[in-house]
Amino acid sequence: MEKIYGNIHSFESFGTVDGPGIRFVVFMQGCPMRCRYCHNPDTWQIGSGKKYSAREVAAEAMKYKSYIKNGGVTVSGGEPLLQAEFVTELFGLLKEKGIHTALDTSGITFSEANAEKYKKLLSVCDLVLLDIKHIDDEKHKKLTGFSNEAVLKFAQFVSDSGVDLWIRHVLVSGITDDDEYLFRLKKFISTLKTVKKVEVLPYHGMGEVKYEKLNIPYVLKGMQPPEKDRIENAKKILN
Ligand code: SF4
Repeated sequence: MEKIYGNIHSFESFGTVDGPGIRFVVFMQGCPMRCRYCHNPDTWQIGSGKKYSAREVAAEAMKYKSYIKNGGVTVSGGEPLLQAEFVTELFGLLKEKGIHTALDTSGITFSEANAEKYKKLLSVCDLVLLDIKHIDDEKHKKLTGFSNEAVLKFAQFVSDSGVDLWIRHVLVSGITDDDEYLFRLKKFISTLKTVKKVEVLPYHGMGEVKYEKLNIPYVLKGMQPPEKDRIENAKKILN
C-alpha cells in the first residue's frame, strides 16, 4: 500500500482550547476557504507545509502522553478534511494507544462522493469540533467565499453517525452577531442529535499581523471584538 504523508503546518504541545483537557494539536496545511476573520492565513496554501507520516505524528504526540492522557489529540488547520486519509490513519494509531481524538473542521469539503471516506475517519474520531461560520447561505458566501450547504450536510452526517459534536461559532459585530441569525443557527443546532456543547468564540484581530507579513489585504481592518453583553447574548441564544 502506498504510504500516505500529511502536509503539516505546525504542532502545539499543550493546547487547552481545542477540545477537552490538555491536547496535542496538529495544524494541517491547506484550506480552500477564505474566511474574512481567519487568523491562520499561513495555513491556506494547499500542498505546502512539512511532510510527515501518520506514525511520525503519532510518535510526536506520544512524547506528551502523560500530559494528554486525560485530554487527547486534536487535528485542526487549515482544513484537515482535505487530508482525510492521513487523519484517519493518524487517529487509528492514536485510538490503538487509547488516546482521545478530535477533529476541528469547517466541514466544507463534504459531499456524497466522499461520504464513505469520511465515515471511516469518523469511526476513529471521538469528537468533531464543527465551525459553523454563518447560518445564512448568502452571508456565508460573503464571509468565506463558499455556500454553507456542505457544512450543514456534514453536521447532519456527523450527528447521524453518532459522533459527538461541539459546535463553534465566531461572533463578529455586524456580520454574525445578529439575533435573527443566532436564532436560526440555534434552530439548526436543535436538529442535531449529538451536540454536547456550543461554543461562542468572540472575534479578535490577532491574526492581522500575519496578513501584513503575507501581503494579503485584511478586509476586517479596524473591526473590534464584540462587547461582553453581546457575547453573553449569543451564548444565551445558542445554549
Ligand atoms: S476554514 Fe479555518 S483555516 Fe480555513 S479560512 Fe476559515 S478560519 Fe481559516
